[in-house]
Amino acid sequence: MIDRHNPPTTSERGTWNLQPSTAPVPLLDLKAQYAAIREEIRAAMDRVADSQYFILGPEVEALEQEVAAYSGCAHGIGVSSGTDALLVALMAIDIQPGDEVITTPYSFFATAGSIARLGAVPIFVDIDPLTFNIDPAGIEARITARTRVIMPVHLYGQMAEMDAIMDIAQRHHLVVIEDAAQAIGSEYRGRRAGSIGHMGCFSFFPSKNLGGFGDGGMVTTNDAALAERVRLLRGHGAHPKYYHKLIGGNFRLDALQAAVLRVKLKYLDSWTEGRQRNAAIYRQLFADGGLALDTPQCLGAGCRARAEGACALRLGGVVLPYEAPERRHIYNQFVIRSTRRDNVMAALKERKIGHEIYYPVPLHLQECFAYLGNKSGDLPASECAAAETLALPIYPELTEEMLAAVVDAVAAGA
Ligand SMILES: *Cc1c(COP(=O)(O)O)cnc(C)c1O
Repeated sequence: MIDRHNPPTTSERGTWNLQPSTAPVPLLDLKAQYAAIREEIRAAMDRVADSQYFILGPEVEALEQEVAAYSGCAHGIGVSSGTDALLVALMAIDIQPGDEVITTPYSFFATAGSIARLGAVPIFVDIDPLTFNIDPAGIEARITARTRVIMPVHLYGQMAEMDAIMDIAQRHHLVVIEDAAQAIGSEYRGRRAGSIGHMGCFSFFPSKNLGGFGDGGMVTTNDAALAERVRLLRGHGAHPKYYHKLIGGNFRLDALQAAVLRVKLKYLDSWTEGRQRNAAIYRQLFADGGLALDTPQCLGAGCRARAEGACALRLGGVVLPYEAPERRHIYNQFVIRSTRRDNVMAALKERKIGHEIYYPVPLHLQECFAYLGNKSGDLPASECAAAETLALPIYPELTEEMLAAVVDAVAAGA
């Protein structure tokens, strides 16, 4: 247990011997990233401006091929956002009102929103408290005659337990749509996000690891027929123009976004390495400060056990992100757990250090889903995560001094 009133300073920790920065540390600094690639991006944007070809076209087609290849997929279809990627993927398999889609309650809203918008029913299965991803052990009990899809989310940049999920899906003839919005380039047993399920859905929202200058997304698949349907639906289901085979929508990606994203994709692996390096430094700094708690031991006890005092987490300190075996974690977020989250947040705020709760309310308890009849206590691991998690800055341009400042602030509050 750490002494809260007298936390060790970084110099006492020895290993790094860092002077923590005193400047504000944002949660994400896209200006720092832009500064390094400004000329290249501007040249790419000029190329599009000179062409006056703004929607789909050669830039989008090139990005589709590049992201598909990067993700180990045969096909990529550029779309207007990660949300629309999920929506159009569900439309491509003709999801109908009343169909059930099994997914996680611990994700960004779009995961469940895309299901409900089609009149389908999101069926929430609780998460594994170690990885924050859907726990395959809970899936089979929720399968009914109406179940059509399993939609796992690779949260924070670490892939869900895909072998178990694919096995269940095969036995029950279900479609698997991966919500890979936070997980471009992450791997499960050597296979990339978006390449294992029937379709993968990516987001190029600016704060994602590969972020555009606005909204954008992509659907990936190894199934040529599904790729064709997504492509049709993206443009109002028309082929040729004005002859509508399907009722689709305008889910098109802009050429300007594609041009920017193509420049950024070349740097993605080096940025990922930067995020992984920062995660490793955090682990060292938290361990040196006596703040890091043993993850499995603490999380095995669960929230209620912690409230009753049966877990070290109650005594201060934080649980660091768990890296499951045989994964490439790309650290879209670096998320810690603390039972003193309010204190930790106050300390971070005082030192102007960026932080965010992803996500404070699990999806099954959102007001708009009250009609589904879920209630508090139904999915305890997700509710516990929502009460304890906190994302810290992890972007690649952070310096060791900035990381030390973050850890010092957490130590002051934990
Ligand atoms: C960001 C995100 C989305 C939605 O992507 P947008 O591009 O913002 O529409 C969907 N699911 C998850 C898990 C996300 O993080």
